[in-house]
Amino acid sequence: LETMEYGPALENDKIARDWLSRGPFGHFIGGAFTAPGALFDSLNPARDDVLAQLTQGSAQDVDAAVNAARAAFPAWSGLSGHARARHLYAIARQIQKRERLFAVLESLDNGKPIREARDIDVPLAIRHFYHHAGWAELAAEEFAGQVPHGVCGQIIPWNFPLLMLAWKIAPALAAGNTVVLKPAEYTPLSALLFAEICIEAGLPAGVVNIVTGDGTTGAALVAHDGVDKIAFTGSTHVGREIRRVTAGSGKALTLELGGKSPFVVFADADLDAAVEGVVDAIWFNQGEVCCAGSRILVAEAVADRFTERLRTRLKALRVGEPLDKSTDIGAIVHPRQLARIRDLVAQGQAAGGVLHQGSAPEGCFFPPTMMVEVSPANPCVSEEIFGPVAVVMTFRTPDEAVDLANNTRYGLAASIWSENLTQAMDIAARVRAGVVWVNATNLFDANAPFGGMRESGFGREGARAGMAAYLRPARAGASTPALGALGPLPQSAS
Ligand code: NAD
Repeated sequence: LETMEYGPALENDKIARDWLSRGPFGHFIGGAFTAPGALFDSLNPARDDVLAQLTQGSAQDVDAAVNAARAAFPAWSGLSGHARARHLYAIARQIQKRERLFAVLESLDNGKPIREARDIDVPLAIRHFYHHAGWAELAAEEFAGQVPHGVCGQIIPWNFPLLMLAWKIAPALAAGNTVVLKPAEYTPLSALLFAEICIEAGLPAGVVNIVTGDGTTGAALVAHDGVDKIAFTGSTHVGREIRRVTAGSGKALTLELGGKSPFVVFADADLDAAVEGVVDAIWFNQGEVCCAGSRILVAEAVADRFTERLRTRLKALRVGEPLDKSTDIGAIVHPRQLARIRDLVAQGQAAGGVLHQGSAPEGCFFPPTMMVEVSPANPCVSEEIFGPVAVVMTFRTPDEAVDLANNTRYGLAASIWSENLTQAMDIAARVRAGVVWVNATNLFDANAPFGGMRESGFGREGARAGMAAYLRPARAGASTPALGALGPLPQSAS
């Protein structure tokens, strides 16, 4: 991957346009694409043009997809873990073969810089399938007495479309479930390219089904009686609604929701490293990151020096065309999201916040932004902005740092910067967050469980805990085959 050469922006654009000319797109159900139905547009936010037209999934479409997944479940769950692993390896390899197209499509559809799509989204997605191929091989031994849930309904957001798909589909399949996935309406394209990968990798029909559409399509999936587990990543607001709708239904549920993560800088921190940490924490992926370090808490003794360096650094960030390799910050995913960011920032200013900003071109872009002079009541301190906007607050003592860090209804992630590792580890234990990084930020690994607490949701993705979320104890006499039951090896993946 490191040596992969990328052509100039226009050439990349052409690669994607050739693929996009297959549209308008239908759903992927039972191993084949359906004819397009009622259409919606997916935009290229950087250029404000329509990239593709896709089918708005109806309740009937969801029903067809769930039926296909149900029909595929007995044979898929009856395969040996080894046989399922071969399919997952085949998927990983196929994505690798098409990694350039994936990276370009993701950049066009979401607005993220091609450099990030190429170096982060796509390699991590591939790694997730390889990693879970390993889990499929080990599942019978490591999860003896456990069985898959059945059909999993999976709903994902638009900030890391392919990676979130991988986080959902890889463990579900490794554990023996079949899947109906609904990508976000702003960014459905990489999921449809993934559907092609499923065909190329010889995955049995119906094991993965993809239905495009908006929240009504998601709601139909959540409500469907034939779904055994819902896995959702998105806003706390929708997560709450899904929990309400599934209560008492017997459906298993995991929720990965929003965040307002603290980024704590102690006086003894390596300030230059911490400045680069901020760049990766909140100006990466346009700040559209659930675990973004959006609340910078800095020791008073170094606050002036630190914010001065941040001001200089943010002015050097290049905002613009996502397909340009030198771009640091791309386009905001959609004009609606841009309006939301602007509105929250205006509210923050009205509450007394003072802005330091870089520059950004006209259009669906927002400059890297740091807001100082904020009180805890400032909406930019309490609300998830999901844009490249950090607030800066100061503390005097470690206890005060912990209090500030925990003064949020979320609990997804935290980042702590100090050269004193004893202090950093002590603080890490006291911050209420599902993931805590020390002298680092936004590190993701398939072998490290990711997930939140409080209003950031529950359940883990990745590693053993992530696999466990796709399994349940076998009931005596249940018809579901136990993991490890022998089945034929897949022909096409061998
Ligand atoms: P969203 O909740 O609006 O949408 C997420 C998905 O849910 C989309 O596919 C959408 O179509 C679907 N949806 C909307 N209404 C639904 C309903 N009533 N029933 C079922 N599905 C429905 O969120 P978003 O704007 O796509 O994403 C941004 C949010 O996601 C942020 O709050 C962010 O923090 C969160 N997020 C969390 C994580 C995590 O791992 N914790 C990762 C990425 C994003």
